[in-house]
Amino acid sequence: MNLAARDQRVIWHPFTRQKDMLPPIPVVKGQGSLLWAENGDVYIDAVSSWWVTLHGHGHPYIAEKIYRQALQLEQVIFAGFTHEPAVQLAERLLPLLPGNFTRIFYSDNGSTSTEVALKMAIQYWWNKGEKRKKILAFHNAYHGDTFGAMSVSDRSVFTLAFHDLLFEVIFIDTPDTVNLESIAQKIREHENEIAAFIYEPLVQGAGGMKMYDAGSMDQLLALVRQAGIVCIADEVMTGFGRTGNLFASAAMVNKPDIICLSKGLTGGTMALGVTACTDRIYQAYVSDDAMKTFFHGHSFTANPLACSAAVASLDLLEEPACRKQISWLCSMQQAFAEKLQQQQLPVKDIRVTGTLLACEIEKGVDGYLNNISAHVTSEALRQGVYLRPLGNTLYLMPPYCITAAELEQVYTCMENILQAL
Ligand SMILES: *Cc1c(COP(=O)(O)O)cnc(C)c1O
Repeated sequence: MNLAARDQRVIWHPFTRQKDMLPPIPVVKGQGSLLWAENGDVYIDAVSSWWVTLHGHGHPYIAEKIYRQALQLEQVIFAGFTHEPAVQLAERLLPLLPGNFTRIFYSDNGSTSTEVALKMAIQYWWNKGEKRKKILAFHNAYHGDTFGAMSVSDRSVFTLAFHDLLFEVIFIDTPDTVNLESIAQKIREHENEIAAFIYEPLVQGAGGMKMYDAGSMDQLLALVRQAGIVCIADEVMTGFGRTGNLFASAAMVNKPDIICLSKGLTGGTMALGVTACTDRIYQAYVSDDAMKTFFHGHSFTANPLACSAAVASLDLLEEPACRKQISWLCSMQQAFAEKLQQQQLPVKDIRVTGTLLACEIEKGVDGYLNNISAHVTSEALRQGVYLRPLGNTLYLMPPYCITAAELEQVYTCMENILQAL
């Protein structure tokens, strides 16, 4: 039996309707932007394998660091013990973060990094003896699939079965120059109950690659900060260069108190989550009272292999060649967006933030359940490109190592598909 058939007997895939599921494509190798299927087909990974891959698949530098670390120390309990990769990563990361961050808390993925942030912010108020428990979040937000993360995410098809069990959240629209005053009004009504504001800065990823204005966001953040509300930037997707800056929060003067990182943290090689906080948050936990301890942790907290991979990824990110590649990708995406605009194609709302390009396909209903997505994916695969639209939202998020020729192939493929619709 071939691998796809064996898979279909025993595996349950994420975010995948099980009935009438197409056989999954066995992938045997990845290098740079390319993925090799078992049958010899080669695909350009134009979505960075669910937004994680930065420097390319099978990067020898990161692979070497993981291998060396595996021989040295592959895992150790992180309560009462520490190790070089965890400390080194924290030392390297803290000065790069957008704000006055002083502490790193490790977990395993993006969802846990936001769970940790929410718990950290809520217990911050509890430790201080203040009754603030409500969370402020954006419509269209996506912060992960665990219960806390689902609660602060938009109520959508992702969360439908669980609505009764999710905690109540105050949802607001992403800010623009018109709606800022009405948002401010809503916040003032609940001002002294709100513990924290969680947001994806500049781009809302899984909610449909929705992009919004940095200037209005800065004004909103100023207002929220004035009310003492803890600001949580979920940069799980936007972090590590995706929006052009190292972090999307760099585009705003008002910085977060807590930041969540994962996905590109290890260059997309291993599962790791980071929740960093400022001293304001941390000091609320430094107490003689044992009840004020942050009782949270995961078996694989600060896994040494993952931390080594993250340090290696930072080494690569800090190389001038990588910075150059990111700005090149930003300008290519901008130019392609302008080219798309000039053609008669069934798309609207063509938009770019840094290395991210997105548009809405004008066919069928807007939203995640539009099955134009499956059509685009299979057509793109036929043309040697991997695309995975969110419903009718078509987007490109290539790894930074993509070559000019590969990027050209992705653009041509996208135009071909749109023309044929
Ligand atoms: C992907 C994502 C998450 C969840 O991360 P996982 O590693 O998939 O759990 C959280 N927030 C944002 C903004 C994301 O894009």
